[in-house]
Amino acid sequence: MQKWKKNIRDIEPYVPGEQPQSSNIIKLNTNESPFAPSPQVKKAIEKYDYEKLRLYPSFVCKELKGALKDIYNVEEDEIFLGNGSDEVLALCFMTFFNSGKKILFPDITYSFYDVWCRLFNIDFERVPLNDDFCIVKEDYYNENGGVVITNPNAPTAIYMEVSEIEDIVKNNDDVIVIVDEAYIDFGGKSAVELIHKYDNVVVVQTYSKSRNLAGIRLGFAMANRELINALEAVKNSFNSYTVSSLSQVIAAASARDVEYFEKCVNEIITAREWTVEELSRLGFETLPSKANFIFTTNKSISAKELFDFLKSKGIYVRYFNKPRIDQYLRITIGTKEQMEELIKAVKEFLNK
Ligand code: PMP
Repeated sequence: MQKWKKNIRDIEPYVPGEQPQSSNIIKLNTNESPFAPSPQVKKAIEKYDYEKLRLYPSFVCKELKGALKDIYNVEEDEIFLGNGSDEVLALCFMTFFNSGKKILFPDITYSFYDVWCRLFNIDFERVPLNDDFCIVKEDYYNENGGVVITNPNAPTAIYMEVSEIEDIVKNNDDVIVIVDEAYIDFGGKSAVELIHKYDNVVVVQTYSKSRNLAGIRLGFAMANRELINALEAVKNSFNSYTVSSLSQVIAAASARDVEYFEKCVNEIITAREWTVEELSRLGFETLPSKANFIFTTNKSISAKELFDFLKSKGIYVRYFNKPRIDQYLRITIGTKEQMEELIKAVKEFLNK
């Protein structure tokens, strides 16, 4: 064995959903949007002076922060931008969870949290969801080193009211509570108002889902200035220019097109309700979803077999071989036409 081997970091990484490159598949496995970005994005790209790419991007990100400020009713210095919310969340873990005590998050939630804990040597405890797959707020009132709540949760899609998030924040005033709102725009209400009421809450959102822009890798956190400054300091100790100039221009143009944003989100919600109804006719039970995906099970079939069958038909959904959820499939909501294809394939599987 090479002598250097023992010095190499050995870590089990997060495994994202497959990104098959073929164009004739129906991709319902990574919660992207089926719709193109706003037409304003196209215009902004066409107008963009490519010569600007010669320079490092602005790290003040004035235009983009200005657009977000108006949407979320926060100040520019209460916004932190990063390369996807994965980067923002990783930096939050690095910045805020240094007490040496265990941080808490649900046993069934975004599976990147465990990976960051291992990467940054943060102790953690997975708090079980109840039998209905809901987060029980009182379970987060014990002494801890921080709390992470995904709302709506993933992969369950279940939404928690802001008043309940507020109770968790109030009962944890000695640590930071992160609210990961990757899917909040599909029917939930953001907890962002809490950042002006409490100094220990950070709300994280992304452009990858409701803003149809997973390709630009843009995420952001909103919190009081002191927390944002702490995040900036950690980021600037690691990599200063994280958000490319082109991403900033695209994101600002997208943020300003509220009408298109609402139209896309509403179409997803309509397709979601239709899909849930159709699946229920076929014997599926679906957890109540306020996200752009559903989590569904059918007691009379094997979820893994359905997953494999759908894949053989070119329909990609997500299956997790994990305790409690190995009979469920997570299905991203696509266009109405894509969901019709899905239902057709499910019927074919059931009639086999
Ligand atoms: N949080 C949750 C709950 C997610 O499901 C995802 C998407 N995988 C992310 C954060 C990260 O999204 P992105 O890095 O694309 O912003």
